[in-house]
Amino acid sequence: PNALLEGDPQVAALIDKELERQQTHLELIASENFTSAAVMAAQGSVLTNKYAEGLPHKRYYGGCEHVDAIEELAIERAKQLFGAAWANVQPHSGAQANFAVFLALLQPGDKIMGMDLSHGGHLSHGSPVNVSGKWFKAVHYGVDPSTAQLNLESIRELALKERPKLIICGFSAYPRRIDFAAFRAIADEVGAYLLADMAHIAGLVAAGVHPNPVPHCHVVTTTTHKTLRGPRGGLILCADAEFGKQFDKAVFPGNQGGPLEHVIAAKAVAFGEALQPSFKSYCEQVINNAKAMAERLQERGIAVVSGGTDNHIVLLDLRSVGLTGKVADLLVSDVNITANKNTVPFDPESPFVTSGLRLGSAALTSRGFTADAFREVADVIADRLINPENDQIEQRCRERVAALCQEFPLYGSCG
Ligand code: PLP
Repeated sequence: PNALLEGDPQVAALIDKELERQQTHLELIASENFTSAAVMAAQGSVLTNKYAEGLPHKRYYGGCEHVDAIEELAIERAKQLFGAAWANVQPHSGAQANFAVFLALLQPGDKIMGMDLSHGGHLSHGSPVNVSGKWFKAVHYGVDPSTAQLNLESIRELALKERPKLIICGFSAYPRRIDFAAFRAIADEVGAYLLADMAHIAGLVAAGVHPNPVPHCHVVTTTTHKTLRGPRGGLILCADAEFGKQFDKAVFPGNQGGPLEHVIAAKAVAFGEALQPSFKSYCEQVINNAKAMAERLQERGIAVVSGGTDNHIVLLDLRSVGLTGKVADLLVSDVNITANKNTVPFDPESPFVTSGLRLGSAALTSRGFTADAFREVADVIADRLINPENDQIEQRCRERVAALCQEFPLYGSCG
């Protein structure tokens, strides 16, 4: 018997529709992934009933012996995965992990320096609409206009001029490798703390296919649901256990109440999966697939920001085909491809329109998509974007998407 179907057919039917959407569409949102059934089972468990304010063995509630063991497992696996000496697995999200770090290290009015949102930074790195930009003085670096890549020398010059108390590296739409040691040299030169927010690339870091920020940064935050393929949530890591302890207090009671132990259990399962050798092969394939997609799109005349990718992200510059991000987003969604419009560096369009489309390879790689399949995905996107008025091509694109979904079923079915 399906408890949800019996208890609430209305919600059950909507979840079924969402499952079918995921199975029948090509998921290219770079911040999304498909977790294992085991991760979902842990999250949908009786642990949702439990209050556990505090840390394992130091709780404000009784009956925590089993959630203590689960949270300890999650902490130990996170430390092992990233070579950290300390971890807190309680942040409800990536933005809350970042806020806990700010709460511990900064006073209101202090200066922080992160990547400009329109160049690929995140809202929680000092955007004026976020608490990070309202309570702190935020200054921003961008990418180099000629390469669309980080220019460490100009970042160093800005840091020397601005003398921020905290420098943030780690981005939401940056397709290139990050040199964390170089960022640390800059932070040390200006006496700043260095925070890496590796939300997007955490899986690649865990698999050893992207450099690890943990040895180089004072503190590292991440989400657990992007390339890391866990439940939606956050995580904080430190190489120095003594330094890390202050973030425990910043998470609880500083910034959150009771931890979500059902999500923490799901994190433990996902970290366990990421420790398996098969996760390394998965992440290698994520990068190969992104490269294959980027190359094919460029062959078809669609410009790729920075000329390629080193990770799972491919950022299209649609000025090359005379489209905006907003229009391209609608065009691909007409043929059952899900992506998101995104600013490109130095974008002349507003954030609601944009000149870019951000694509990511993590989710479809979890479905088993190969590099050849990603070249076909790129061809479908190119055919649709280059012929926006052609109904026959639109129909054919939809059929090709359906064929790909058939070839690579999700959760045992193709919808
Ligand atoms: N940090 C970066 C770099 C991100 O890309 C994101 C989400 O996209 C976040 C933080 C925020 O994560 P959450 O949505 O879990 O708050």
